[in-house]
Amino acid sequence: MSVFSNPAFDNHERVIFCRDEPTGLCAIIAIHSTALGPAAGGTRLWTYANDDDALHDVLRLSQGMSYKNAMAGLKFGGGKAVIMKPPDFDGSEALFERFGEFIDTLDGDYVTAEDVGMSVEIMATIARRTRYVSGLPLQSGKAGGDPSPKTAYGVYYGIEAAAKARLGRDSLEGLRVAVQGVGHVGYYLCKLLQEAGATLLVSDIDETRVDRVCSEFGADRVGSAQILSADVDVLAPCALGSILHQESIPGITARIIAGGANNQLRSPQDGQRLADAGILYAPDYVINAGGIVNVACEYFGDVDDDGVMDLVAQIGPRLADIFDEAKRTGEPTNVIADRRAREIIAGDA
Ligand code: NAD
Repeated sequence: MSVFSNPAFDNHERVIFCRDEPTGLCAIIAIHSTALGPAAGGTRLWTYANDDDALHDVLRLSQGMSYKNAMAGLKFGGGKAVIMKPPDFDGSEALFERFGEFIDTLDGDYVTAEDVGMSVEIMATIARRTRYVSGLPLQSGKAGGDPSPKTAYGVYYGIEAAAKARLGRDSLEGLRVAVQGVGHVGYYLCKLLQEAGATLLVSDIDETRVDRVCSEFGADRVGSAQILSADVDVLAPCALGSILHQESIPGITARIIAGGANNQLRSPQDGQRLADAGILYAPDYVINAGGIVNVACEYFGDVDDDGVMDLVAQIGPRLADIFDEAKRTGEPTNVIADRRAREIIAGDA
């Protein structure tokens, strides 16, 4: 496994390998940047085929967190952690406690929270060993708890902004939206879209999750292989990343891609491919920042839950501004967002 020559390595400040044989813990923490504050970003629990895949994932995700936190105006740098799910994993608390001890050795340079495969309960277990953790059980009126409902709100505001910019629509009534992945973020997004009168098509590799949104929100089910090319106005990726690439983009008929998943583009060039195809792409780390806004407000303890919602609502206008610039200049939206994020991190914005 090579770190420095990994294509996702971007002058990360630190990469920490965490191994604990008795509990089976195999984790990697990547601190991309602490220029704006402690490197913050969730921990992903996932079955990786090998170490290289886990390393690649954490390097990319942590860079994305630097950009996300910068664009959201937070006093956070970017970091991320991945835990390689052991075969036959039984959810052992000892593994998560040991992981918390590793985080604690970093003295606050890395702050964790939920990502795929994690939960508020697991965060509480990690918090037995370190205070550098957020996304803990909610106390009434305060910011905190599972960040995914706030992520879903941000995505919803982003879809509104994109529908206005690309389709000239002021309402989501009757809008056809395909949601790939109806876990935490996808579920809450479906709820908001259904309340707004949108028509939903959904897919998930976990059929019980599909059953739930079909019965609760009147969604229609689509096979995992068909969801990207579904005949809809908006495609909302809310599962895993690297789904938008040279092979998948020609099959997409949606005019808008706006969803919560991280790292949706396989490569930056895929942003140009989407623009060339006339598809308006909401840069993932801009539209899905609602959860980290919640995490930051909880961690710094400076804003209550209403204040979090005000900050999350800014995601719509922030995207509208990027869409405007893209329309004026012809530049892909991901290029505009990356430039703005880098300027903020460098202190030039
Ligand atoms: P989750 O694990 O709760 O949900 C993900 C869902 O995607 C699961 O139900 C899973 O079965 C499904 N899935 C996986 N592969 C799939 C495939 N090929 N096709 C269809 N479904 C598939 O995770 P989550 O917290 O909802 O996060 C979803 C995405 O949003 C991730 O990319 C995550 O990094 C990103 N994200 C989450 C948050 C948050 O607040 N939870 C914040 C920002 C970004």
